[in-house]
Amino acid sequence: MNLIAEQRGQLIRQKALELGFDDISFAEAQYLEEEAAFYDQWLVQGNHAGMGYMDRNREKRNDPRLLVEGTKSVVLVLQNYKPHRETHQVSDFKLAKYAYGRDYHKVVKNRLKKLMSFIQSDVAPEAEGRFFVDSAPVSERSLAARAGLGWRGKNTNLIHPRLGSFFFIGEILLNIELPYGEAIKEACGGCTRCLAACPTGALTAPYQLDANKCISYLTIENKGKISEEFAGQFEGWIFGCDICQDVCPWNWKARPHNEPDFDLRPAFRDMTNVDWRSLDELAFDELSKGSPIRRAGFDGLMRNLRFVDTQKE
Ligand code: SF4
Ligand code: SF4
Repeated sequence: MNLIAEQRGQLIRQKALELGFDDISFAEAQYLEEEAAFYDQWLVQGNHAGMGYMDRNREKRNDPRLLVEGTKSVVLVLQNYKPHRETHQVSDFKLAKYAYGRDYHKVVKNRLKKLMSFIQSDVAPEAEGRFFVDSAPVSERSLAARAGLGWRGKNTNLIHPRLGSFFFIGEILLNIELPYGEAIKEACGGCTRCLAACPTGALTAPYQLDANKCISYLTIENKGKISEEFAGQFEGWIFGCDICQDVCPWNWKARPHNEPDFDLRPAFRDMTNVDWRSLDELAFDELSKGSPIRRAGFDGLMRNLRFVDTQKE
């Protein structure tokens, strides 16, 4: 890699950390051959359940150059959201940690926008590109793994040696060359905690997730009824599920985030079981403003609550 790219990488890295990102690296924009084969097989087996969008734009997902013409590099940033240890909800109904605070799309996008402006003003005036957070067909975990930000764990999450897996990934697709990171070795070793802990058997084998059985899918993206085959298995989760990450030893020693926007909202923290059960549409609208839980919608969240509640009876 040439000297200019090295210097540019250093400047971008320094700025990203200054802006509050927890780590950053760069991947070359290219066809993700091995990952594409794996992904296609996953789709063919129907593991994406009702998430039809995952099947669309496969070509773009497997090659960032097809998503934004002229892309040479992908800047990958990580934003930690692991809560502080003392964080807990009053209620037995559980929310995935990523939904504790403000919608991450907004937080991460604001920072990416600043990083992009910095690149254009202070690093490379010719730089052009686009940035995304979960908003385009980008294989961000594969790219981040290629950039050396972690390995794909047996629970299918990206595991960072220092941050664990509770982080958001954002990316900028750029038309300039940068110093690319090197993939690191998988370090799950002989561990299979996540597979053993998944209550619905959604981790059908190491690195294999069947979304049809995953509580995270069933409580958020799923628009239909929740099948009785999962009765008694949700363990209180009404929006998402963190079990296979909570049991991962790499998350135990990871440090908590330093971002007030991701703190557990007092409104969520103080909700009792009765408050959740008696939530009406108007109250949900107020409660979910600017929160990821809005994605489930009022009807979806109530369906989840009833499903979890029925299991207790
Ligand atoms: S999120 Fe929950 S249900 Fe989905 S694979 Fe992990 S442990 Fe299983
Ligand atoms: S729980 Fe164990 S096997 Fe699963 S992702 Fe973590 S280290 Fe890997």
